[in-house]
Amino acid sequence: MNLTAENHRIPLSDGNSIPLLGLGTYADPQKTPKGSCLEAVKIAIDAGYRHIDGAFVYFNEHEVGQAIREKIAEGKIKREDIFYCGKLWNTCHPPELVRPTLEKTLKILQLDYVDLYIIELPMAFKPGDALYPRDENGKFIYHETDLCATWEAMEACKDAGLAKSIGVSNFNRRQLEMIMNKPGLKYKPVSNQVECHPYFTQPKLLEFCRQHDIVIVGYSPLGTSRDESWVNVSSPPLLKDPLLNAIGKKYNKTAAQIALRFNIQRGVVVIPKSFNPQRIRENFQIFDFSLTEKEMKEIEALNKNVRYVELLM
Ligand code: NAP
Repeated sequence: MNLTAENHRIPLSDGNSIPLLGLGTYADPQKTPKGSCLEAVKIAIDAGYRHIDGAFVYFNEHEVGQAIREKIAEGKIKREDIFYCGKLWNTCHPPELVRPTLEKTLKILQLDYVDLYIIELPMAFKPGDALYPRDENGKFIYHETDLCATWEAMEACKDAGLAKSIGVSNFNRRQLEMIMNKPGLKYKPVSNQVECHPYFTQPKLLEFCRQHDIVIVGYSPLGTSRDESWVNVSSPPLLKDPLLNAIGKKYNKTAAQIALRFNIQRGVVVIPKSFNPQRIRENFQIFDFSLTEKEMKEIEALNKNVRYVELLM
Protein backbone atom coordinates (compact mmCIF):
# COMPACT_ATOMS: atom_id res chain seq x y z
CA MET A 1 0.00 0.00 0.00
CA ASN A 2 1.41 3.39 -0.96
CA LEU A 3 0.61 5.55 2.05
CA THR A 4 1.34 9.21 2.46
CA ALA A 5 0.32 11.66 5.16
CA GLU A 6 -2.05 13.34 2.72
CA ASN A 7 -3.52 10.13 1.40
CA HIS A 8 -4.01 8.07 4.50
CA ARG A 9 -7.69 7.22 4.48
CA ILE A 10 -9.19 3.85 3.73
CA PRO A 11 -12.71 3.26 2.43
CA LEU A 12 -15.57 2.07 4.61
CA SER A 13 -18.29 -0.22 3.29
CA ASP A 14 -20.92 2.55 3.44
CA GLY A 15 -19.03 4.84 1.05
CA ASN A 16 -17.35 6.96 3.74
CA SER A 17 -13.64 6.67 4.59
CA ILE A 18 -11.53 6.64 7.74
CA PRO A 19 -8.03 8.05 8.33
CA LEU A 20 -5.57 5.24 9.10
CA LEU A 21 -4.10 7.16 12.02
CA GLY A 22 -6.11 8.71 14.82
CA LEU A 23 -5.43 10.18 18.23
CA GLY A 24 -6.65 8.05 21.16
CA THR A 25 -7.94 10.16 24.05
CA TYR A 26 -8.38 7.80 26.99
CA ALA A 27 -6.43 8.99 30.04
CA ASP A 28 -7.29 8.24 33.66
CA PRO A 29 -9.36 11.28 34.72
CA GLN A 30 -8.03 11.02 38.31
CA LYS A 31 -4.41 11.30 37.18
CA THR A 32 -4.71 13.66 34.22
CA PRO A 33 -4.76 17.44 34.63
CA LYS A 34 -7.84 19.17 33.21
CA GLY A 35 -7.19 20.68 29.80
CA SER A 36 -4.57 18.08 28.79
CA CYS A 37 -6.90 16.49 26.27
CA LEU A 38 -7.87 19.89 24.84
CA GLU A 39 -4.22 20.79 24.26
CA ALA A 40 -3.37 17.33 22.88
CA VAL A 41 -6.16 17.39 20.31
CA LYS A 42 -5.18 20.89 19.16
CA ILE A 43 -1.52 19.87 18.81
CA ALA A 44 -2.57 16.73 16.97
CA ILE A 45 -4.71 18.68 14.49
CA ASP A 46 -1.81 21.07 13.88
CA ALA A 47 0.46 18.06 13.32
CA GLY A 48 -1.88 16.69 10.66
CA TYR A 49 -4.15 14.26 12.53
CA ARG A 50 -7.72 14.30 11.26
CA HIS A 51 -9.10 11.33 13.20
CA ILE A 52 -9.87 11.53 16.92
CA ASP A 53 -11.07 8.57 18.99
CA GLY A 54 -13.09 9.38 22.09
CA ALA A 55 -15.93 8.23 24.29
CA PHE A 56 -18.44 9.52 26.80
CA VAL A 57 -16.82 7.34 29.49
CA TYR A 58 -13.41 9.02 28.98
CA PHE A 59 -14.91 12.12 30.66
CA ASN A 60 -13.04 14.49 28.35
CA GLU A 61 -15.32 14.60 25.31
CA HIS A 62 -16.05 18.28 26.07
CA GLU A 63 -12.34 19.01 25.64
CA VAL A 64 -12.20 17.11 22.34
CA GLY A 65 -15.19 19.08 21.06
CA GLN A 66 -13.70 22.38 22.18
CA ALA A 67 -10.38 21.63 20.46
CA ILE A 68 -12.13 20.75 17.19
CA ARG A 69 -14.33 23.85 17.35
CA GLU A 70 -11.36 26.12 18.14
CA LYS A 71 -9.42 24.75 15.17
CA ILE A 72 -12.44 25.27 12.92
CA ALA A 73 -12.81 28.86 14.21
CA GLU A 74 -9.10 29.47 13.53
CA GLY A 75 -9.65 28.39 9.92
CA LYS A 76 -7.16 25.54 10.28
CA ILE A 77 -9.75 22.89 9.36
CA LYS A 78 -13.36 22.50 8.32
CA ARG A 79 -15.73 20.20 10.17
CA GLU A 80 -15.76 17.78 7.23
CA ASP A 81 -11.97 17.36 7.48
CA ILE A 82 -12.32 15.79 10.93
CA PHE A 83 -13.27 12.20 11.65
CA TYR A 84 -14.54 11.83 15.22
CA CYS A 85 -15.45 8.42 16.65
CA GLY A 86 -17.71 8.30 19.71
CA LYS A 87 -18.93 5.27 21.67
CA LEU A 88 -22.18 3.95 23.10
CA TRP A 89 -21.57 2.87 26.71
CA ASN A 90 -22.79 -0.40 28.29
CA THR A 91 -25.55 1.23 30.35
CA CYS A 92 -27.20 2.62 27.20
CA HIS A 93 -27.91 -0.50 25.13
CA PRO A 94 -31.72 -0.55 25.37
CA PRO A 95 -32.81 0.69 21.92
CA GLU A 96 -34.82 3.63 23.29
CA LEU A 97 -31.64 4.96 24.99
CA VAL A 98 -29.36 4.87 21.94
CA ARG A 99 -30.39 8.07 20.18
CA PRO A 100 -30.71 10.17 23.37
CA THR A 101 -27.24 8.94 24.40
CA LEU A 102 -25.72 9.98 21.10
CA GLU A 103 -27.55 13.31 21.33
CA LYS A 104 -25.99 13.80 24.78
CA THR A 105 -22.54 13.16 23.31
CA LEU A 106 -23.23 15.67 20.52
CA LYS A 107 -24.30 18.23 23.10
CA ILE A 108 -21.09 17.66 25.06
CA LEU A 109 -19.01 17.93 21.88
CA GLN A 110 -21.13 20.84 20.58
CA LEU A 111 -21.08 19.21 17.16
CA ASP A 112 -23.96 18.26 14.86
CA TYR A 113 -22.83 14.74 14.08
CA VAL A 114 -20.13 12.18 14.78
CA ASP A 115 -18.35 10.51 11.89
CA LEU A 116 -18.46 7.10 13.49
CA TYR A 117 -20.54 5.85 16.42
CA ILE A 118 -19.71 2.43 17.81
CA ILE A 119 -21.11 0.04 20.41
CA GLU A 120 -18.20 0.08 22.87
CA LEU A 121 -18.67 -3.44 24.24
CA PRO A 122 -20.98 -6.31 23.32
CA MET A 123 -22.48 -6.65 26.79
CA ALA A 124 -24.89 -4.39 28.66
CA PHE A 125 -24.94 -3.05 32.21
CA LYS A 126 -28.06 -2.05 34.12
CA PRO A 127 -29.21 1.33 32.76
CA GLY A 128 -29.05 4.26 35.18
CA ASP A 129 -26.77 6.96 36.50
CA ALA A 130 -24.07 4.52 37.68
CA LEU A 131 -21.79 3.86 34.71
CA TYR A 132 -20.32 0.81 36.46
CA PRO A 133 -23.31 -0.51 38.45
CA ARG A 134 -22.36 -3.08 41.10
CA ASP A 135 -24.38 -5.11 43.58
CA GLU A 136 -23.70 -5.30 47.35
CA ASN A 137 -20.99 -7.93 46.69
CA GLY A 138 -19.19 -5.66 44.28
CA LYS A 139 -20.28 -7.67 41.24
CA PHE A 140 -21.25 -5.85 38.03
CA ILE A 141 -25.00 -5.73 37.41
CA TYR A 142 -25.59 -6.81 33.84
CA HIS A 143 -28.70 -6.20 31.80
CA GLU A 144 -30.45 -8.43 29.27
CA THR A 145 -30.67 -6.64 25.95
CA ASP A 146 -30.85 -7.80 22.38
CA LEU A 147 -27.72 -6.59 20.58
CA CYS A 148 -29.65 -6.73 17.30
CA ALA A 149 -32.25 -4.30 18.69
CA THR A 150 -29.42 -2.00 19.85
CA TRP A 151 -28.00 -2.22 16.33
CA GLU A 152 -31.34 -1.22 14.78
CA ALA A 153 -31.30 1.89 16.99
CA MET A 154 -27.75 2.61 15.76
CA GLU A 155 -29.03 2.32 12.17
CA ALA A 156 -31.73 4.88 12.98
CA CYS A 157 -29.02 7.29 14.23
CA LYS A 158 -27.27 6.97 10.88
CA ASP A 159 -30.54 7.58 9.03
CA ALA A 160 -31.14 10.67 11.17
CA GLY A 161 -27.70 12.03 10.17
CA LEU A 162 -26.40 12.00 13.76
CA ALA A 163 -23.68 9.48 12.86
CA LYS A 164 -22.19 9.28 9.36
CA SER A 165 -21.11 5.66 9.92
CA ILE A 166 -21.83 3.03 12.55
CA GLY A 167 -19.68 0.23 13.89
CA VAL A 168 -18.78 -1.88 16.90
CA SER A 169 -15.95 -2.50 19.34
CA ASN A 170 -14.68 -5.57 21.18
CA PHE A 171 -16.93 -7.82 19.10
CA ASN A 172 -15.82 -11.36 18.29
CA ARG A 173 -16.70 -13.21 15.12
CA ARG A 174 -19.88 -14.70 16.59
CA GLN A 175 -21.17 -11.31 17.68
CA LEU A 176 -20.36 -9.76 14.28
CA GLU A 177 -22.16 -12.62 12.54
CA MET A 178 -25.18 -12.13 14.77
CA ILE A 179 -25.52 -8.54 13.53
CA MET A 180 -24.71 -9.33 9.91
CA ASN A 181 -27.23 -12.19 9.79
CA LYS A 182 -29.97 -10.14 11.43
CA PRO A 183 -33.16 -10.27 9.36
CA GLY A 184 -33.80 -6.87 7.77
CA LEU A 185 -30.24 -5.59 8.34
CA LYS A 186 -29.99 -2.10 6.88
CA TYR A 187 -26.31 -1.29 7.45
CA LYS A 188 -23.58 -3.67 8.48
CA PRO A 189 -20.89 -2.49 10.93
CA VAL A 190 -18.22 -0.60 8.97
CA SER A 191 -15.56 -1.23 11.61
CA ASN A 192 -14.66 -3.22 14.70
CA GLN A 193 -12.38 -1.52 17.22
CA VAL A 194 -10.30 -4.14 19.05
CA GLU A 195 -6.91 -4.46 20.74
CA CYS A 196 -4.31 -4.90 17.99
CA HIS A 197 -0.49 -4.58 17.99
CA PRO A 198 2.56 -6.78 17.30
CA TYR A 199 2.01 -8.86 20.49
CA PHE A 200 -1.70 -9.33 19.70
CA THR A 201 -2.02 -9.31 15.94
CA GLN A 202 -5.58 -10.70 15.63
CA PRO A 203 -4.87 -12.84 12.52
CA LYS A 204 -8.21 -14.71 12.48
CA LEU A 205 -10.46 -11.74 13.27
CA LEU A 206 -8.54 -9.61 10.77
CA GLU A 207 -9.05 -12.20 8.03
CA PHE A 208 -12.76 -12.52 8.87
CA CYS A 209 -13.21 -8.75 8.86
CA ARG A 210 -11.32 -8.40 5.57
CA GLN A 211 -13.65 -10.92 3.97
CA HIS A 212 -16.66 -8.93 5.15
CA ASP A 213 -15.36 -5.43 4.42
CA ILE A 214 -15.16 -4.48 8.08
CA VAL A 215 -12.19 -2.26 8.94
CA ILE A 216 -10.26 -3.17 12.07
CA VAL A 217 -9.39 -0.19 14.23
CA GLY A 218 -6.55 -1.23 16.52
CA TYR A 219 -6.65 0.13 20.04
CA SER A 220 -3.69 0.11 22.42
CA PRO A 221 -1.43 -0.03 19.34
CA LEU A 222 1.61 0.86 21.49
CA GLY A 223 0.84 -1.68 24.18
CA THR A 224 -1.21 0.60 26.49
CA SER A 225 -0.12 2.95 29.27
CA ARG A 226 0.57 -0.10 31.49
CA ASP A 227 -1.75 1.21 34.18
CA GLU A 228 -2.09 -1.75 36.54
CA SER A 229 -5.67 -0.85 37.44
CA TRP A 230 -6.89 -2.09 34.03
CA VAL A 231 -3.90 -3.48 32.15
CA ASN A 232 -2.41 -6.97 32.33
CA VAL A 233 1.18 -5.91 32.95
CA SER A 234 2.51 -9.49 33.10
CA SER A 235 2.90 -9.29 29.32
CA PRO A 236 6.22 -7.50 28.61
CA PRO A 237 6.24 -3.87 27.43
CA LEU A 238 5.76 -3.80 23.66
CA LEU A 239 8.00 -0.80 23.04
CA LYS A 240 11.01 -2.54 24.64
CA ASP A 241 10.81 -5.32 22.07
CA PRO A 242 14.30 -5.93 20.56
CA LEU A 243 13.03 -6.58 17.02
CA LEU A 244 10.89 -3.42 16.90
CA ASN A 245 13.86 -1.43 18.18
CA ALA A 246 16.31 -3.04 15.73
CA ILE A 247 14.03 -2.36 12.75
CA GLY A 248 13.53 1.16 14.08
CA LYS A 249 17.30 1.75 14.05
CA LYS A 250 17.47 0.78 10.38
CA TYR A 251 14.89 3.43 9.43
CA ASN A 252 15.86 5.99 12.06
CA LYS A 253 12.46 5.48 13.68
CA THR A 254 11.33 4.51 17.18
CA ALA A 255 9.81 1.20 18.23
CA ALA A 256 6.48 3.06 18.55
CA GLN A 257 6.65 4.22 14.94
CA ILE A 258 7.50 0.69 13.76
CA ALA A 259 4.56 -0.78 15.73
CA LEU A 260 2.18 1.77 14.21
CA ARG A 261 3.56 1.40 10.69
CA PHE A 262 3.20 -2.38 10.92
CA ASN A 263 -0.54 -2.06 11.48
CA ILE A 264 -1.34 0.65 8.95
CA GLN A 265 0.70 -1.18 6.32
CA ARG A 266 -1.65 -4.16 6.69
CA GLY A 267 -4.74 -1.96 6.59
CA VAL A 268 -5.39 -1.76 10.33
CA VAL A 269 -6.29 1.73 11.57
CA VAL A 270 -4.28 2.82 14.64
CA ILE A 271 -5.35 5.22 17.39
CA PRO A 272 -2.29 5.73 19.63
CA LYS A 273 -2.98 7.88 22.68
CA SER A 274 -0.50 10.57 23.60
CA PHE A 275 -0.98 13.85 25.43
CA ASN A 276 2.72 14.68 25.02
CA PRO A 277 3.44 17.17 22.18
CA GLN A 278 6.65 15.46 21.04
CA ARG A 279 5.15 11.97 21.05
CA ILE A 280 1.95 13.16 19.33
CA ARG A 281 4.13 14.43 16.48
CA GLU A 282 6.37 11.36 16.55
CA ASN A 283 3.41 9.03 16.15
CA PHE A 284 2.34 10.89 13.00
CA GLN A 285 5.70 10.36 11.28
CA ILE A 286 4.86 6.94 9.90
CA PHE A 287 3.97 7.77 6.32
CA ASP A 288 7.49 8.45 5.00
CA PHE A 289 8.92 4.91 5.04
CA SER A 290 7.73 1.37 4.54
CA LEU A 291 8.58 -2.00 6.01
CA THR A 292 9.72 -4.81 3.74
CA GLU A 293 7.60 -7.94 3.36
CA LYS A 294 10.22 -9.84 5.38
CA GLU A 295 10.04 -7.29 8.22
CA MET A 296 6.24 -7.44 8.18
CA LYS A 297 6.43 -11.24 8.54
CA GLU A 298 9.01 -11.00 11.35
CA ILE A 299 6.82 -8.54 13.26
CA GLU A 300 3.76 -10.73 12.70
CA ALA A 301 5.71 -13.59 14.29
CA LEU A 302 5.99 -11.58 17.54
CA ASN A 303 2.31 -12.36 18.20
CA LYS A 304 1.91 -13.77 21.73
CA ASN A 305 -1.88 -13.97 21.56
CA VAL A 306 -2.07 -12.31 24.97
CA ARG A 307 -4.18 -9.24 25.62
CA TYR A 308 -3.03 -6.25 27.63
CA VAL A 309 -6.68 -5.19 27.98
CA GLU A 310 -8.43 -8.23 29.40
CA LEU A 311 -11.83 -6.56 29.92
CA LEU A 312 -12.57 -8.88 32.82
CA MET A 313 -16.01 -7.31 33.17
P1 NAP B 1 -1.62 3.09 23.55
O1 NAP B 1 -2.03 4.11 22.58
O2 NAP B 1 -1.13 1.78 23.07
O3 NAP B 1 -0.50 3.66 24.52
C1 NAP B 1 -0.64 4.86 25.21
C2 NAP B 1 0.56 5.05 26.11
O4 NAP B 1 1.76 5.13 25.35
C3 NAP B 1 0.48 6.30 26.93
O5 NAP B 1 1.01 6.03 28.20
C4 NAP B 1 1.37 7.30 26.16
O6 NAP B 1 1.92 8.24 27.04
C5 NAP B 1 2.43 6.37 25.61
N1 NAP B 1 2.99 6.80 24.31
C6 NAP B 1 2.35 7.41 23.30
N2 NAP B 1 3.16 7.61 22.26
C7 NAP B 1 4.36 7.10 22.61
C8 NAP B 1 5.62 7.01 21.95
N3 NAP B 1 5.81 7.46 20.72
N4 NAP B 1 6.66 6.44 22.64
C9 NAP B 1 6.49 5.98 23.89
N5 NAP B 1 5.32 6.02 24.56
C10 NAP B 1 4.26 6.58 23.92
O7 NAP B 1 -2.78 2.75 24.59
P2 NAP B 1 -4.31 3.04 24.86
O8 NAP B 1 -4.50 4.41 25.37
O9 NAP B 1 -4.76 1.88 25.66
O10 NAP B 1 -5.03 2.90 23.45
C11 NAP B 1 -5.17 3.99 22.56
C12 NAP B 1 -6.60 4.46 22.44
O11 NAP B 1 -7.47 3.39 22.07
C13 NAP B 1 -7.24 4.95 23.76
O12 NAP B 1 -6.77 6.21 24.13
C14 NAP B 1 -8.70 4.91 23.40
O13 NAP B 1 -9.02 6.03 22.58
C15 NAP B 1 -8.78 3.61 22.60
N6 NAP B 1 -9.17 2.41 23.40
C16 NAP B 1 -10.38 1.83 23.16
C17 NAP B 1 -10.77 0.71 23.87
C18 NAP B 1 -12.09 0.07 23.58
O14 NAP B 1 -12.54 -0.78 24.38
N7 NAP B 1 -12.72 0.36 22.48
C19 NAP B 1 -9.94 0.16 24.87
C20 NAP B 1 -8.69 0.78 25.08
C21 NAP B 1 -8.31 1.89 24.35
P3 NAP B 1 1.91 9.87 26.74
O15 NAP B 1 0.49 10.30 26.67
O16 NAP B 1 2.63 10.40 27.92
O17 NAP B 1 2.66 10.05 25.44
